[in-house]
Amino acid sequence: MSATIIVPALQDAYQGVLRRNPAESEFHQAVEEVLGCLGPVVERNPHYLAERVIERLCEPERQIIFRVPWTDDAGQVQINRGFRVEYSSVLGPYKGGLRFHPSVLLGTVKFLGFEQIFKNALTGMPIGGGKGGSDFDPKGRSDAEVMRFCQSFMTELYRHLGEYTDVPAGDIGVGGREIGYLFGQYKRITNRYEAGVLTGKGIAWGGSLARIEATGYGTVYFANEMAKQVGATLDGKDVVVSGSGNVAIYAMDKVTELGGKVLACSDSSGYVVDEDGIDLDLIRDIKERRRERIRVYAQERGGRSRFVEGRIWDVPAQVALPCATQNELDEDAAIAMVKAGTKLVAEGANMPCTPGAVSVFQEAGLLFGPGKAANAGGVATSALEMQQNASRDSWTFEHTDGRLHEIMRGIHERCVATAQEYGQPGDYVFGANVAGFTRVAEAMLAMGVI
Ligand code: GLU
Repeated sequence: MSATIIVPALQDAYQGVLRRNPAESEFHQAVEEVLGCLGPVVERNPHYLAERVIERLCEPERQIIFRVPWTDDAGQVQINRGFRVEYSSVLGPYKGGLRFHPSVLLGTVKFLGFEQIFKNALTGMPIGGGKGGSDFDPKGRSDAEVMRFCQSFMTELYRHLGEYTDVPAGDIGVGGREIGYLFGQYKRITNRYEAGVLTGKGIAWGGSLARIEATGYGTVYFANEMAKQVGATLDGKDVVVSGSGNVAIYAMDKVTELGGKVLACSDSSGYVVDEDGIDLDLIRDIKERRRERIRVYAQERGGRSRFVEGRIWDVPAQVALPCATQNELDEDAAIAMVKAGTKLVAEGANMPCTPGAVSVFQEAGLLFGPGKAANAGGVATSALEMQQNASRDSWTFEHTDGRLHEIMRGIHERCVATAQEYGQPGDYVFGANVAGFTRVAEAMLAMGVI
């Protein structure tokens, strides 16, 4: 089991993190989960402690905070805060998304950046870990406002980026529209058509086919591999998917293709249940095109659908895919899910299950796939986009999706083998953290005190 840090040297490292990063509870949570798995690793490799690899990893290589002034449609000056945490470049350029959401604080970006290091390592691709974003809220803003914000954001950020240095992408609140505005401003300031500086680009201007689907598809490929371990499939299963953004939409798409029935999905205002299975075209129209609240789904779909202003985890299903945001599924919800017969949980979002929820799942013997393994398909396909950009090539959807599928199978195998090697069979949290950490630690040791 993971969470508790028993080894004194690791506990000291964790106490150091608490002391130096006060009030950053999400960051503490992410660090505690990883360090909680490393006891047997440092026992086998005491030089990791002697070389202080863990303390080094808990400190980002660079943290950038900047002012983002812009003018709204009413002519009023607005000020937001921008962040980029360049966490670890030991495996490749810093790589990770940008999140635009009012809840974004430095600690949020640090937690996401920390997760990203191990996620990216697990993919086996040459990418380091980073994350960024802003407390800007795109909700209710016009395209012109979003553009002015993105241009101001990039006017500061561009000096830190480069295809060999730092390569952002999207995350919550940052999709194709925002990446377009950001890329346009980067190109304008630098006078360089440096396609590999951002990923998640449009297909006509250096983007990769299958990138938009990749996080959701990858999560379902991973969940399918987990099911296969116990001789099951997703075919005929009831599935609940939280969220209704990019990750959730393509997770629902793939679940449906594999014969599962998506019963419910959500946004921050509540959830919709549809006994006939969620109509994806309608969800996409409401969320992606019209940018409306999810209750509109039940109003327009009618039939056996309804909107509920509560927590989606009360809808019984064999499979649950949390694809919304961090800490959206707590211990209480997990207990209800176990009682209702949930058998498999795979995280499409970053850290959506609280540590209490994860313990409940693991103690109940459920299959639990943590985000840094299950949602790695997005960033892995970003690395494929970078490969295409570097070779000035573009691959077919089938080829790229095939590579994604192969990468997800590889991550699954790495998690299973590592958990097995350390005598923790079936513990994907342990397998993901230890496999990811080991790759990063070995590279750090090879490069000296950096
Ligand atoms: N934001 C995504 C993640 O959490 C994708 C990052 C990327 O493609 O660089 O992994």
